[in-house]
Parts: sequence; C-alpha cells; structure tokens
Amino acid sequence: MAVTPSIYLDYQATTPLDPAVLDAMLPYLQGRFGNPHSVTHRFGWETEAAVDLAREQVAAVIGADPVDMIFTSGATESNNLAIKGTLAASLPHKNHLITVATEHKCVLESAAAAGRSGADITYLPVGSDGLLDMNQLAEAMTGRTALVSVMAVNNEIGVIQPLAEIGELCREKGVPFHTDAAQAFGKIPLSADDINAALMSISGHKIYGPKGIGALYVRNLKASRIVPQMDGGGQEAGIRSGTLSPALCAGLGAASVIAAERRERELAETGRNAAHFLSRLREGLPDLVINGSERARYPGNLNLTFPGADGDRLLADLRDIAMSSGAACASAMEGPSYVLQALGLDEAAASSSLRIGFGRFTTLEELEFAAGRIIEAVRKNNPATGS
Ligand SMILES: *Cc1c(COP(=O)(O)O)cnc(C)c1O
Repeated sequence: MAVTPSIYLDYQATTPLDPAVLDAMLPYLQGRFGNPHSVTHRFGWETEAAVDLAREQVAAVIGADPVDMIFTSGATESNNLAIKGTLAASLPHKNHLITVATEHKCVLESAAAAGRSGADITYLPVGSDGLLDMNQLAEAMTGRTALVSVMAVNNEIGVIQPLAEIGELCREKGVPFHTDAAQAFGKIPLSADDINAALMSISGHKIYGPKGIGALYVRNLKASRIVPQMDGGGQEAGIRSGTLSPALCAGLGAASVIAAERRERELAETGRNAAHFLSRLREGLPDLVINGSERARYPGNLNLTFPGADGDRLLADLRDIAMSSGAACASAMEGPSYVLQALGLDEAAASSSLRIGFGRFTTLEELEFAAGRIIEAVRKNNPATGS
C-alpha cells in the first residue's frame, strides 16, 4: 500500500510554492491575459509592466542591471543557452569549454552537445570535499578557452565552489565565467559583479517560486553575441524567442523579493536546524559520513553515507519521509550517483547515501521525527551500524 509522505525533505529537487508567490501570480491567471509583447494596447501594457517589474526584482538579488536579465523556462534552458550559445558564438577560433565533473546533468549534456559540434571539453575533477582545485583550473585555461562553467551550490552535496576566486582567474585570463546558480540564487550571498560572472542561471522552483520559469543573467546583454537556441519572434533581446508567461514571471519576481528579504535569517536558521539534525542523527548513528566540504556548504542540504546500509532500501522503509538517493532526474536511473563517485566514494558507499534537503517550511519537529525514523531504518537495514 502506498504511504503518503508526511514530511518533505527533498528541497533540492524542488521547493513548495510560497503562498505569497501564488498571490502575485493570480491576477495574470485570472483576467490580465494580455500578451506582454503586444505594444499597441492596454492589455499588453499591463502584463508588460508585470514582466518589467519581475525583471527588476530578479536582477536586484544579484545586483545586476535588469536589462541584462532574460527569462527562460528554467535553469535547464538557461544552462543550455549559456553553454551552447557561447560556444556557438566563439567557434571556430575559441573552441574550448571547461566545466566540472559534478555539474548538473543539463550542464554536462550541454557540454557534450558542444563537443559534438566541435568544441573540446575539459571536465575538471573535484577533491574528496567536492571542490575544484584552482591550480587545475588555471592550468586547463588556454588562449582557446571560450567559457568556464562552474556551478555555485551543488544540488546533490550542497558544496559551494570558490566563485570569487574562479571569477577573478577568469578576469585575469579574459575568459567568460558562467555559473549555474539554481541552488544558490536567493539562498547564499551572491553578486554578479563580486564573482565576475558573465552568465548566471536561475530557476524559479528552487526558491519557492513556480516551475517552468527561470532566468539567465548575461552581462552586457546588448553587446552579447550569444547564439539563440530557439528561433522566433526575437523576444528577450533576440536571444530567447517565445511569448513570456506574465504569471510565471511575476511568480519568479515575487519569489526573488522574498528570498532576498529573508536570506540572512533563513540561512542562519537553516544552519541551526542542520546542526541540530546532524547531532541527533549522530547520537544514534556515530559512523555516518557527511559527503562534501563541511566548511564551504549551503546548510539546507545534507548528503550522508550510512556505511553498510542500502540507500534504496532505506528510502523504501522511509516512505513517510520524502528524500532521495541522488538528483531527482538521476534517481530513476540505474546506478549510484556520479557526483558521489567523483568525490571518490566507491559504489557501495555511494549506494549507502541519502540526500536530505530542507528549508523555509521545514520545522524542527519534522527534523526530530525524521532523525528518529532514519536511525531506526538504518539500524534495521544494517544491524552492525551504529550499535
Ligand atoms: C534544478 C536544477 C537545475 C534545473 O533547473 P530547472 O529549472 O528545473 O530546469 C539545474 N541546475 C541545478 C544545480 C539545479 O539544482
């Protein structure tokens, strides 16, 4: 019999829609239907105004100029556009892309597609802490490097790459820096200028906004030669054609405002909750292992290995708690996480791991309950563990 999960601890897969975000969206689903690209009448003007406001709200979170922000369908599309669009604009003279082995699938697959179009791809390894090595990045850069793409916060292990250092190195070498900030935007302090980002990908549904909307920051968009990946009416500065959804834009805008207002407080609270949850778990399971740097991390993500336990069996035993054994897009597939394996975990350890994510709507009581259930399930799964 199916058990309905009562506790949601999968905030890296997606986040619940904030009710205030829904309020901001509703007028554009209930009457204000105009095409925001219609310039000859009021119906278009009122939804265009909503889109303009949302653009300002999203840009403000990272200190960007709103004219440098375009809307997309999500971080997947933003990453595709940033990577394929930049490589297409740079080929054949500059034909080299540098990225990292632990990136999100949509970055790795965009890189692979660029490779099929003639680009050389360098996949940098990471250390056991999940962080790239700045010396290796510097060594990989050549006169033909068109783009460096390194994610901000990892969606499986929560580690924060050294963004400011990467941006500084890219500035010295004159190479544009793209960061997939889907898990970082609105959650950790992030300024496009401070990290010298040329491109930054953003997703609505990771920040309590709606699914199906994201954004791409393109520094100096007007001068950008990025090649569109979708042809059409030339919306979004000619780079991303298609009619925008004013409701989704308004939702992303409202989610951005709320995220920026609450960031400091929520980050501190999430850190306290994570520490409490971990110490509760460790009381019962002293040999659990935290995957990824404990220093450079977003605290709303914990990727834990329970030595000797089987992650999928744990998930099956813990159906009342929504968690995952990897990324949402990958967990349906066979095999343990490539991200954990890139950290040096063997297959057994990677298969004994769970990703636990929490945030705005998670209560301490839920974490208490989950810790107790996880301890129970791990002990049942592997009686040697933690006893
Ligand atoms: C969720 C996520 C994506 C994909 O975002 P969508 O908006 O769902 O397309 C890309 N990168 C990272 C790091 C993510 O967490």
